[in-house]
Amino acid sequence: MFAQKPGLIARCVDMCDVQTVIRSATDTRILTAIRCGGHSLAGFSSCDNGLVIDLSRMREVTVDPDARRARVAGGCLLGSIDTATQKAGLVFPSGVVSHTGAAGLILGGGTGWLTRRFGLSCDNVEAFTLVTADGSVVRASATENVDLFWALRGGGGNFGVVTEFELKLHPLTSVVLAEGLTPEGHIRQLLQCWRDFMHDAPFDLKWNLDLRLAPHKQKVPEPLRGQPVAGSSLVWTGAPEDAQPYFERALSLCHSDSVRSRNLSFLDLQTMADSDFPHGRRYYTKSGYFQYLDDATIDRFIEALATIPSPETQIELTYLGGAAGQVAAHETAFGDRSAPFITNLLANWPDASADALHISWVRSLFDRLRPAMTPGVYVNFMSGDEQERVPEAYQQRWERMVLVKTKYDPDNFFRLNQNVQPHKRG
Ligand SMILES: Cc1cc2nc3c(=O)[nH]c(=O)nc-3n(C[C@H](O)[C@H](O)[C@H](O)COP(=O)(O)OP(=O)(O)OC[C@H]3O[C@@H](n4cnc5c(N)ncnc54)[C@H](O)[C@@H]3O)c2cc1C
Repeated sequence: MFAQKPGLIARCVDMCDVQTVIRSATDTRILTAIRCGGHSLAGFSSCDNGLVIDLSRMREVTVDPDARRARVAGGCLLGSIDTATQKAGLVFPSGVVSHTGAAGLILGGGTGWLTRRFGLSCDNVEAFTLVTADGSVVRASATENVDLFWALRGGGGNFGVVTEFELKLHPLTSVVLAEGLTPEGHIRQLLQCWRDFMHDAPFDLKWNLDLRLAPHKQKVPEPLRGQPVAGSSLVWTGAPEDAQPYFERALSLCHSDSVRSRNLSFLDLQTMADSDFPHGRRYYTKSGYFQYLDDATIDRFIEALATIPSPETQIELTYLGGAAGQVAAHETAFGDRSAPFITNLLANWPDASADALHISWVRSLFDRLRPAMTPGVYVNFMSGDEQERVPEAYQQRWERMVLVKTKYDPDNFFRLNQNVQPHKRG
């Protein structure tokens, strides 16, 4: 969707390259984009006629198994981290598609299968090393540049180019995965059950829902193919024998021929959605939080399914809580985690000719859901046309964000992002 043509691409190999490029770029005031995995749904990883700092040659990962720590270079993909950490039987909690860039995901927050068990990705960062707009190298941690450390955990690419993340790891090599499809007539009951069930669910359980049209695939029961369904995906990270009672309850409203469960290696879990989100497709998204999913909101989701514009488009519903929900709003820029229901309206289609149809479907559903939403938004699930929602992402933390931005990037050199504008000089 973002076929931009930069004038120059700087393919940095190390921190010194990044410093050299940033010093030249600030001197010339050229428009500059930062690219790690290139997954920015808002199209921020490139620009027309400007400079792209491409970090794809900076993908080293060093694991210290005894300390359960990893050093990860600023251009890594999630898959580079998973492959290296699994050699030591360890995991870093990140996202669900392995070709997503780690830097963009972590800096915005980072949600995935392990969020309830181990917290957001940004909750598991011990330190950041970055090159700021004046070319300096700065380290931010719980004891160094603590204002910056706070802002980098949810504040996106606003403050500099992160060249290295120091990450906390956790022991885990496999999970139990259960999946099932609920036919249209039972979706209302399913969403009510999910809403009530997740409130007291164990941290070991992640239950994601997606409302969509069932694919025409062999494994989908014949009567459901092409029909509106709710797909349940449950991941259990505890002892496998303890999963069954939760799975049974959660999958009781699924078509019995669609239900399956299996033990899965962590690497298989992390790559199982890769082919659903190939490069080169078109994506448009809008997202928000709910404190509670009332019945009228549930009905709006179900009504929207009747007009869903394509088979790959989906309404994603996840429940935060767990370890992520235990971090207080003021501790990180990511902020308030008290509204646990997250919806992500994700249109996904192949041809430019269908852009208007998909974008208008997402916008109109979002407008109908908006009155019931709790203010707030996850910056990594925003599109490029939502700049006015950036203060909403930070709310009470906004002024603190602006102060940190003003200190580290007073001229707003890093502005191709969900942008926090610095105070004007003087
Ligand atoms: C298919 C797909 C699946 C996704 N799945 C998830 C998911 O499971 N969980 C989740 O939380 N999010 C998910 N996302 C959203 C994702 O977190 C954001 O799109 C994120 O920005 C992607 O990071 P990236 O490095 O690939 O992107 P890029 O486009 O390379 O970068 C995005 C922005 O991040 C900043 N940035 C990147 N690298 C650096 C760096 N080294 N230093 C400073 N700033 C930097 C820049 O501002 C840049 O514009 C998904 C997105 C897609 C397209």
